[in-house]
This record gives sequence, C-alpha cells and structure tokens, in this order.
Amino acid sequence: MFRSSMRSRLIERLELTNGFRGSLERSEFFLDFQPIFSLGDRRLRGFEALVRWQHPTRGLVAPLRFIPVAEETGFIVPLGRWVLVEACEHLAAWSRLTRAPLTLAVNLSRRQLVSHHLADDVRSAIAITGIGPGQLVLEVTESVLMDDPERASAALSELRSLGIRIAVDDFGTGYSSLSYLQRFPVDVLKIDKSFVDQLNRSEPGSSALVTTIIGLARSLQLSVVAEGIEREDQLDQLVELGCEFGQGFLMARPLDGQRAEALIEAYEGSAAPS
Ligand code: C2E
Ligand code: MG
Ligand code: MG
Repeated sequence: MFRSSMRSRLIERLELTNGFRGSLERSEFFLDFQPIFSLGDRRLRGFEALVRWQHPTRGLVAPLRFIPVAEETGFIVPLGRWVLVEACEHLAAWSRLTRAPLTLAVNLSRRQLVSHHLADDVRSAIAITGIGPGQLVLEVTESVLMDDPERASAALSELRSLGIRIAVDDFGTGYSSLSYLQRFPVDVLKIDKSFVDQLNRSEPGSSALVTTIIGLARSLQLSVVAEGIEREDQLDQLVELGCEFGQGFLMARPLDGQRAEALIEAYEGSAAPS
C-alpha cells in the first residue's frame, strides 16, 4: 500500500510538472476572490486572490495540490508573477466601479519571497495597472518567515518601502518566536482557521488562543483578520473579542471575477446586505 501510494504521488507530481509547461501561455490559470469583511458592520473591505488551475485532463486542481509542486520546481516564480499582475488588473477595474478603497491580498510563496525579482515584479504590477500601492496586501505564512528570518525581514522591508502592506497568513501555526514578530515589518495578522474552529461558547477556554492573538495584534498595532469563519456564533464571538476583519464561507466562498464585481456593485448601490 505504501509503495502504491508513493507511486501515485510520484506520478501525480510528474504529471503536474509536465503540465506546467506552456500552461500560462494556454491561459489555464484563473483567480477566485474571497471577500473580506469588517465584522462589526459586515461591510465589504476587500478580497483575497486565490489561484486555480483548470488542468486539461485532470480538471480543476486545488492550489494545495499544485502550489507545493510549483514551489519545488521553481514554476511558482512565473506563476506568482502572473497572479500578481492578474490580481492588480482586477483591483484596478474594481476601483473604477466604487469609491470605497478596496484592498486585495495576494499570497506569496517561499521562493517568491526570497527571489531578487520580487520587488521589481511588484513595482511593475503596480505601475502597469495603476493601483494605489496601499490597496495591495501581500500574505506570507509564518513558517516562510521563520525559515530565514533575516532574509525574510529584508525582503519585507523592501516591499513595504513601495507602500504596500504585509500580512502574516495562518498565524499561530508556525511556531514563530514572538520576538521575531515584533521585528518583522508586518501590518496584519491572519488568525488561522484552526483557532476559529475551536471557538465554542459552551466550552470555557475555547477562545483563549483567539483572545491572545487579538491582544497581541493590538499591542503591536497590527490589524487582525480571522480566517475560515463558518458559523454565526463564531462571528458573534469574534466581534465580541474585538476582531476587526474576517473571511469565511459564512459570509462568502471564493467568487469568480464576475461575481466579485457583482458583489462590489451591490455594496456600492445599497446598504450592506446582511
Ligand atoms: P490561504 O491563503 O490560507 O487561503 C485560505 C484558504 O481557506 C482558501 O483555500 C479558502 O478557500 C479557504 N477558506 C476560506 N474560508 C473558508 C471556510 O470558511 N471554510 C473552509 N473550510 N475553508 C475556507 P484555497 O483556495 O484552497 O487555497 C489554499 C491555500 O493555497 C491558500 O491558503 C494559500 O496558502 C495557497 N494559495 C492559494 N492561492 C495562491 C497563490 O496565488 N499563490 C500562493 N503562493 N499560494 C496560494
Ligand atoms: Mg492567504
Ligand atoms: Mg490562511
């Protein structure tokens, strides 16, 4: 059994690697956008861009399957560059629909962060699309930061000097040392879904970690986004605990570009839908 599962993993890896060749030219990737809301008033604040691959034979492949392979093979660098430009193009189009200053978060992988081209790629995506750099948030997971903290810190400082903001994704899962957190030039903490999952009013103590993360963010003057909110009671509790922003299936699943646009127009044209 072990051998056969190893074998099928290897085959999948090989297939994905081969599939990367020419995939960008054939426009096989697209972005979905998950809305991010301010939790107190449930207003739309922005989106997180999430990449999808429409593979010619495998169908839709989830990012958790192909991002690690793209990372290993280096394909993540051109793919990440494409994601960045595509995301900024959407943001520029949205900015023409609404006066609300929406933000857009883009995920960065390990290899992208240490690439010497990253700052140039970001600079040129901003210049080509004309977005305000303050609207762009780049997300890096805690474990990527902790891999090589000195290098990560330098890369983040360079990015931040362009006027963009930095979020720590999946915060709480990467065993980061708190002293590093204080030294990293970051603006936003995203509370990992696993902590939001634990919120349960009938279990005393279940909110201890979320409370701690929110308190930590507040004392470091960072904003907080809760990820993976699925239930109304979680949302209520997060509001009570002072969590300002959130995303999750309760409010909205990731949407294609058209649906994201329709949501923006709905907010622009009316009061916040509940
Ligand atoms: P992430 O950055 O933490 O993104 C959040 C993931 O949680 C998304 O999964 C989203 O669909 C999912 N999610 C959001 N709300 C809920 C909820 O209420 N319940 C549940 N069960 N899930 C929820 P997705 O799109 O499958 O992406 C998975 C991961 O793949 C992302 O995690 C991110 O690490 C990576 N990824 C996605 N797009 C990119 C990209 O463009 N570049 C890089 N480097 N990584 C990406
Ligand atoms: Mg993310
Ligand atoms: Mg996350």
